[in-house]
Amino acid sequence: MPEGHTIHRAARIQRGLLAGGAVRVDSPQGRFAHGAALLDGRELLAIDAYGKHLFYAFAGDVWVHVHLGLFGKFRTGTGEPPPPRGAVRMRVSGERGWMTLSGPTACDLVDDNERRLILDRIGPDPLREDARPAAAIARIMRSAAPIGVLLMDQRVVAGIGNVYRAELLFRARISPAAPGRSLARAQILALWKDARMLLRDGEERGRIVTTRPADRPHPRGAVRRGEQYYVYHRTGQPCRICGSTIERAAMAARTLYFCPVCQSEPSRPSSRTIAGMRARSPKKPRVAKGHVTAS
Ligand SMILES: [Zn+2]
Repeated sequence: MPEGHTIHRAARIQRGLLAGGAVRVDSPQGRFAHGAALLDGRELLAIDAYGKHLFYAFAGDVWVHVHLGLFGKFRTGTGEPPPPRGAVRMRVSGERGWMTLSGPTACDLVDDNERRLILDRIGPDPLREDARPAAAIARIMRSAAPIGVLLMDQRVVAGIGNVYRAELLFRARISPAAPGRSLARAQILALWKDARMLLRDGEERGRIVTTRPADRPHPRGAVRRGEQYYVYHRTGQPCRICGSTIERAAMAARTLYFCPVCQSEPSRPSSRTIAGMRARSPKKPRVAKGHVTAS
Protein backbone atom coordinates (compact mmCIF):
# COMPACT_ATOMS: atom_id res chain seq x y z
CA MET A 1 0.00 0.00 0.00
CA PRO A 2 1.39 3.44 -0.87
CA GLU A 3 2.54 5.46 2.12
CA GLY A 4 1.88 9.16 2.67
CA HIS A 5 4.82 10.40 0.64
CA THR A 6 3.43 8.74 -2.52
CA ILE A 7 0.03 10.38 -2.04
CA HIS A 8 1.49 13.83 -1.40
CA ARG A 9 3.75 13.47 -4.41
CA ALA A 10 0.79 12.45 -6.59
CA ALA A 11 -1.15 15.48 -5.31
CA ARG A 12 1.75 17.82 -6.11
CA ILE A 13 2.24 16.45 -9.63
CA GLN A 14 -1.49 16.49 -10.40
CA ARG A 15 -1.86 20.04 -9.05
CA GLY A 16 0.78 21.14 -11.53
CA LEU A 17 -1.05 19.44 -14.39
CA LEU A 18 -4.67 20.13 -13.59
CA ALA A 19 -5.49 22.59 -10.81
CA GLY A 20 -6.65 26.12 -11.51
CA GLY A 21 -8.71 25.59 -14.63
CA ALA A 22 -11.79 23.92 -16.06
CA VAL A 23 -11.29 20.18 -16.63
CA ARG A 24 -12.92 17.34 -18.47
CA VAL A 25 -13.89 14.43 -16.21
CA ASP A 26 -15.09 11.03 -17.33
CA SER A 27 -15.13 7.41 -16.19
CA PRO A 28 -14.06 5.11 -19.03
CA GLN A 29 -14.81 2.08 -16.83
CA GLY A 30 -18.23 3.48 -15.92
CA ARG A 31 -18.20 3.04 -12.15
CA PHE A 32 -17.78 6.78 -11.55
CA ALA A 33 -19.96 7.83 -14.48
CA HIS A 34 -22.50 9.72 -12.35
CA GLY A 35 -19.85 11.71 -10.47
CA ALA A 36 -17.89 12.39 -13.65
CA ALA A 37 -20.98 13.74 -15.42
CA LEU A 38 -21.60 16.14 -12.53
CA LEU A 39 -18.00 17.41 -12.50
CA ASP A 40 -17.24 17.55 -16.23
CA GLY A 41 -16.46 21.12 -17.30
CA ARG A 42 -16.09 22.49 -13.77
CA GLU A 43 -13.02 24.22 -12.44
CA LEU A 44 -10.68 22.04 -10.40
CA LEU A 45 -9.63 24.37 -7.60
CA ALA A 46 -7.20 22.30 -5.54
CA ILE A 47 -5.85 18.82 -4.84
CA ASP A 48 -5.05 18.15 -1.21
CA ALA A 49 -3.50 15.16 0.54
CA TYR A 50 -4.09 14.10 4.15
CA GLY A 51 -2.20 10.95 5.06
CA LYS A 52 -3.32 8.37 2.48
CA HIS A 53 -6.44 10.33 1.47
CA LEU A 54 -6.77 12.71 -1.47
CA PHE A 55 -9.40 15.39 -1.98
CA TYR A 56 -10.07 17.05 -5.35
CA ALA A 57 -11.87 20.33 -4.71
CA PHE A 58 -14.18 21.41 -7.53
CA ALA A 59 -16.04 24.68 -7.96
CA GLY A 60 -19.45 24.51 -6.29
CA ASP A 61 -18.28 22.96 -2.98
CA VAL A 62 -17.94 19.44 -4.35
CA TRP A 63 -15.02 17.15 -3.60
CA VAL A 64 -13.86 13.81 -4.91
CA HIS A 65 -12.43 11.67 -2.14
CA VAL A 66 -9.83 9.13 -3.30
CA HIS A 67 -8.09 6.38 -1.33
CA LEU A 68 -5.85 4.12 -3.39
CA GLY A 69 -5.98 1.18 -0.97
CA LEU A 70 -3.79 -1.77 -1.92
CA PHE A 71 -4.31 -1.77 -5.68
CA GLY A 72 -5.14 1.77 -6.69
CA LYS A 73 -2.89 3.44 -9.24
CA PHE A 74 -2.47 6.85 -10.85
CA ARG A 75 -1.03 7.61 -14.23
CA THR A 76 -0.29 11.17 -15.28
CA GLY A 77 1.10 13.00 -18.27
CA THR A 78 1.19 16.21 -20.24
CA GLY A 79 -0.87 17.01 -23.31
CA GLU A 80 -3.82 14.89 -24.40
CA PRO A 81 -4.68 11.69 -22.45
CA PRO A 82 -3.85 8.42 -24.22
CA PRO A 83 -6.56 5.76 -24.68
CA PRO A 84 -7.44 4.34 -21.22
CA ARG A 85 -5.35 1.39 -20.07
CA GLY A 86 -7.17 -1.14 -17.87
CA ALA A 87 -10.23 -0.26 -15.81
CA VAL A 88 -9.95 3.52 -15.44
CA ARG A 89 -12.39 4.70 -12.77
CA MET A 90 -11.79 8.42 -13.21
CA ARG A 91 -9.99 10.40 -15.87
CA VAL A 92 -9.36 14.12 -15.55
CA SER A 93 -7.81 16.21 -18.29
CA GLY A 94 -7.09 19.89 -18.66
CA GLU A 95 -5.11 22.27 -20.83
CA ARG A 96 -1.74 21.20 -19.42
CA GLY A 97 -2.16 17.48 -18.82
CA TRP A 98 -4.17 14.54 -17.58
CA MET A 99 -4.47 11.91 -14.89
CA THR A 100 -6.16 8.53 -14.70
CA LEU A 101 -7.12 6.57 -11.61
CA SER A 102 -7.66 2.81 -11.60
CA GLY A 103 -8.39 0.27 -8.89
CA PRO A 104 -8.93 2.60 -5.92
CA THR A 105 -10.62 1.59 -2.67
CA ALA A 106 -12.51 4.90 -2.73
CA CYS A 107 -13.42 7.34 -5.49
CA ASP A 108 -16.51 9.15 -4.28
CA LEU A 109 -18.24 12.49 -4.54
CA VAL A 110 -18.41 14.07 -1.09
CA ASP A 111 -19.80 17.32 0.29
CA ASP A 112 -18.07 19.49 2.88
CA ASN A 113 -19.69 17.64 5.77
CA GLU A 114 -18.64 14.20 4.53
CA ARG A 115 -15.15 15.49 3.89
CA ARG A 116 -14.88 16.73 7.47
CA LEU A 117 -16.10 13.38 8.81
CA ILE A 118 -13.31 11.60 6.92
CA LEU A 119 -10.72 14.09 8.18
CA ASP A 120 -11.97 13.78 11.76
CA ARG A 121 -11.18 10.08 11.67
CA ILE A 122 -7.51 10.47 10.79
CA GLY A 123 -4.65 11.70 12.94
CA PRO A 124 -2.25 14.53 12.11
CA ASP A 125 -0.17 14.04 8.97
CA PRO A 126 3.55 14.87 9.43
CA LEU A 127 3.76 15.97 5.78
CA ARG A 128 1.24 18.76 6.22
CA GLU A 129 2.47 22.22 7.19
CA ASP A 130 -0.65 22.71 9.32
CA ALA A 131 -0.23 19.43 11.24
CA ARG A 132 0.07 19.60 15.04
CA PRO A 133 1.53 16.50 16.70
CA ALA A 134 -0.07 17.13 20.13
CA ALA A 135 -3.09 14.88 19.52
CA ALA A 136 -0.91 12.03 18.26
CA ILE A 137 1.52 12.32 21.16
CA ALA A 138 -1.30 12.35 23.73
CA ARG A 139 -2.91 9.31 22.13
CA ILE A 140 0.34 7.33 22.09
CA MET A 141 1.18 8.31 25.69
CA ARG A 142 -2.07 6.92 27.08
CA SER A 143 -2.13 3.71 25.01
CA ALA A 144 -1.06 0.26 26.16
CA ALA A 145 -0.79 -0.87 22.52
CA PRO A 146 2.70 -1.45 21.07
CA ILE A 147 4.22 1.58 19.34
CA GLY A 148 4.63 -0.64 16.24
CA VAL A 149 0.83 -0.92 16.07
CA LEU A 150 0.13 2.73 16.96
CA LEU A 151 2.36 4.13 14.20
CA MET A 152 0.38 2.16 11.59
CA ASP A 153 -2.97 3.29 12.99
CA GLN A 154 -4.14 6.09 10.68
CA ARG A 155 -6.35 7.47 13.48
CA VAL A 156 -3.18 8.17 15.50
CA VAL A 157 -0.79 9.40 12.79
CA ALA A 158 -1.72 9.68 9.11
CA GLY A 159 0.52 8.55 6.28
CA ILE A 160 2.91 6.09 7.92
CA GLY A 161 2.91 2.59 6.45
CA ASN A 162 4.92 -0.57 6.90
CA VAL A 163 8.26 0.68 5.56
CA TYR A 164 8.33 3.92 7.56
CA ARG A 165 7.11 2.15 10.71
CA ALA A 166 10.03 -0.27 10.70
CA GLU A 167 12.62 2.32 9.74
CA LEU A 168 11.46 5.07 12.14
CA LEU A 169 11.56 2.69 15.10
CA PHE A 170 14.99 1.44 14.14
CA ARG A 171 16.38 4.97 13.74
CA ALA A 172 15.00 5.83 17.19
CA ARG A 173 16.31 2.52 18.62
CA ILE A 174 12.85 1.81 20.03
CA SER A 175 11.46 -1.71 20.30
CA PRO A 176 8.29 -2.07 18.18
CA ALA A 177 6.75 -3.94 21.12
CA ALA A 178 7.18 -1.06 23.56
CA PRO A 179 3.74 0.08 24.78
CA GLY A 180 2.93 3.65 23.73
CA ARG A 181 2.60 4.72 27.34
CA SER A 182 6.12 3.48 28.17
CA LEU A 183 7.60 6.15 25.87
CA ALA A 184 8.60 9.63 27.00
CA ARG A 185 7.02 12.67 25.33
CA ALA A 186 10.44 13.65 23.97
CA GLN A 187 10.85 10.22 22.33
CA ILE A 188 7.48 10.51 20.58
CA LEU A 189 8.15 14.07 19.47
CA ALA A 190 11.49 12.90 18.07
CA LEU A 191 9.67 10.12 16.16
CA TRP A 192 7.27 12.71 14.74
CA LYS A 193 10.11 15.00 13.61
CA ASP A 194 11.98 12.11 12.04
CA ALA A 195 8.78 10.97 10.28
CA ARG A 196 8.31 14.49 8.89
CA MET A 197 11.89 14.63 7.64
CA LEU A 198 11.85 11.14 6.08
CA LEU A 199 8.41 11.56 4.49
CA ARG A 200 9.47 14.90 2.95
CA ASP A 201 12.59 13.27 1.59
CA GLY A 202 10.50 10.39 0.20
CA GLU A 203 8.06 12.83 -1.38
CA GLU A 204 10.89 14.63 -3.18
CA ARG A 205 12.79 11.50 -4.28
CA GLY A 206 9.71 9.45 -5.14
CA ARG A 207 11.18 6.58 -3.13
CA ILE A 208 11.93 5.83 0.50
CA VAL A 209 15.51 6.16 1.71
CA THR A 210 16.13 6.03 5.44
CA THR A 211 19.83 5.17 5.76
CA ARG A 212 22.29 7.92 6.61
CA PRO A 213 25.12 8.11 4.07
CA ALA A 214 27.72 7.02 6.67
CA ASP A 215 25.75 3.83 7.36
CA ARG A 216 25.68 2.75 3.68
CA PRO A 217 28.36 0.51 2.19
CA HIS A 218 28.77 3.19 -0.51
CA PRO A 219 28.32 6.51 1.30
CA ARG A 220 28.99 8.68 -1.76
CA GLY A 221 26.82 9.21 -4.82
CA ALA A 222 23.39 7.78 -5.56
CA VAL A 223 21.80 5.41 -3.06
CA ARG A 224 22.32 1.90 -4.42
CA ARG A 225 19.74 -0.86 -4.50
CA GLY A 226 19.67 -2.70 -1.18
CA GLU A 227 21.25 0.20 0.73
CA GLN A 228 18.18 2.36 1.28
CA TYR A 229 16.83 0.69 4.45
CA TYR A 230 18.15 -0.32 7.88
CA VAL A 231 15.76 -3.19 8.59
CA TYR A 232 12.86 -3.34 6.11
CA HIS A 233 13.03 -6.55 4.04
CA ARG A 234 16.46 -7.32 5.55
CA THR A 235 15.55 -10.44 7.57
CA GLY A 236 18.65 -12.57 8.19
CA GLN A 237 21.06 -9.84 7.09
CA PRO A 238 23.46 -8.11 9.49
CA CYS A 239 22.37 -4.90 11.20
CA ARG A 240 24.19 -1.91 9.66
CA ILE A 241 24.98 -0.61 13.15
CA CYS A 242 25.69 -3.58 15.44
CA GLY A 243 26.07 -6.55 13.07
CA SER A 244 23.31 -8.61 14.74
CA THR A 245 20.88 -10.51 12.53
CA ILE A 246 17.76 -8.57 11.53
CA GLU A 247 14.58 -10.37 12.60
CA ARG A 248 10.95 -10.20 11.61
CA ALA A 249 7.61 -10.68 13.35
CA ALA A 250 3.95 -10.09 12.54
CA MET A 251 2.43 -6.92 13.99
CA ALA A 252 -0.75 -5.04 12.98
CA ALA A 253 -1.33 -7.65 10.24
CA ARG A 254 1.91 -6.73 8.48
CA THR A 255 5.46 -8.03 8.73
CA LEU A 256 7.63 -6.01 11.04
CA TYR A 257 11.43 -5.90 10.73
CA PHE A 258 13.76 -4.97 13.59
CA CYS A 259 17.20 -5.42 15.09
CA PRO A 260 16.83 -7.38 18.35
CA VAL A 261 19.93 -5.71 19.83
CA CYS A 262 19.67 -2.05 18.73
CA GLN A 263 15.94 -2.08 19.51
CA SER A 264 15.99 -3.93 22.81
CA GLU A 265 14.71 -0.98 24.85
CA PRO A 266 12.40 -0.66 26.63
CA SER A 267 11.04 -4.15 25.88
CA ARG A 268 11.63 -6.92 23.35
CA PRO A 269 9.33 -7.75 20.42
CA SER A 270 8.87 -11.48 21.02
CA SER A 271 7.81 -13.25 24.17
CA ARG A 272 10.43 -15.90 23.49
CA THR A 273 13.16 -13.28 23.70
CA ILE A 274 11.59 -11.70 26.75
CA ALA A 275 11.55 -15.10 28.51
CA GLY A 276 15.19 -15.60 27.54
CA MET A 277 16.15 -12.21 28.94
CA ARG A 278 14.40 -12.90 32.22
CA ALA A 279 16.10 -16.27 32.59
CA ARG A 280 19.48 -14.65 32.22
CA SER A 281 18.95 -11.69 34.53
CA PRO A 282 20.18 -12.29 38.10
CA LYS A 283 17.47 -12.44 40.72
CA LYS A 284 17.55 -9.76 43.35
CA PRO A 285 17.82 -11.21 46.84
CA ARG A 286 14.69 -10.57 48.85
CA VAL A 287 15.62 -8.80 52.02
CA ALA A 288 13.14 -8.58 54.88
CA LYS A 289 12.67 -5.21 56.54
CA GLY A 290 14.89 -4.63 59.52
CA HIS A 291 17.40 -7.25 58.53
CA VAL A 292 20.92 -6.61 57.44
CA THR A 293 22.41 -9.34 55.35
CA ALA A 294 26.06 -10.06 55.74
CA SER A 295 27.88 -10.91 52.60
ZN1 LIG B 1 21.59 -3.56 15.51
